[in-house]
Amino acid sequence: MKKIVKQLIELQEIDTRFDELQMQKGDLPLMIEEAENDLEEIKSQENELEIQLKKGEADRRMFQVEIEAGRGKLKEYEDKLYKVQTNKEYDAISLEIDTKKMEINELENKILQSLEEEEETKKNLDELKERLEKVDKQLDEYRHELEEIIKHTRAEEARLSKEREKITEVIDKRILRQYQRIRKAKGGLAVVPIKKGSCGGCFSAIPPQRIVEIRELNRMHTCENCGRILVWIDDFVE
Ligand SMILES: [Zn+2]
Repeated sequence: MKKIVKQLIELQEIDTRFDELQMQKGDLPLMIEEAENDLEEIKSQENELEIQLKKGEADRRMFQVEIEAGRGKLKEYEDKLYKVQTNKEYDAISLEIDTKKMEINELENKILQSLEEEEETKKNLDELKERLEKVDKQLDEYRHELEEIIKHTRAEEARLSKEREKITEVIDKRILRQYQRIRKAKGGLAVVPIKKGSCGGCFSAIPPQRIVEIRELNRMHTCENCGRILVWIDDFVE
């Protein structure tokens, strides 16, 4: 038991230091993740707008082809109009001409509308590009800042990782799971020393008889109030 308590104390020290190192990074990891997500989103919007532009161009080319064909047809009808013999024939061809003219007119309007849309899309695209540049620059700054912090903590983190691995390899798996569960539930602190007869986590008083038992290290004790693992540290200084 004594060994397990010692391992738990060590593990808690390592994890607390890990947490401190994480704290130094502040919100940076989160901010980087958010900026990366923003960047992805902007890029996908950009892509969509570029597809829209291409589609607009293709549409206008198609309308243009249809207009040319319509004009050819119109010319044919107009030629025919000179050669008609009857009023009925004249009326029929006149109707064809009017219809064709309307069709051409409609196609021309479609081209105009598409050009207007293109202008709007280009404006949106410019805005996106501006945003992209801004987020990209921000992301660079965040990464640089984090890199600066990590530069100072990397060696220590590596050492802590190795030490943690050593302990978690040998520690009782059931106790390790319990430790991790408490740590998660209690904001990082799972193993606490007894301070002035109280739990070092929640400060509730512990009966003297229990303290004696805890000091004997015959079994693991948890705080009845907060559930943290209680340990006695002889040379504990506050
Ligand atoms: Zn407690």
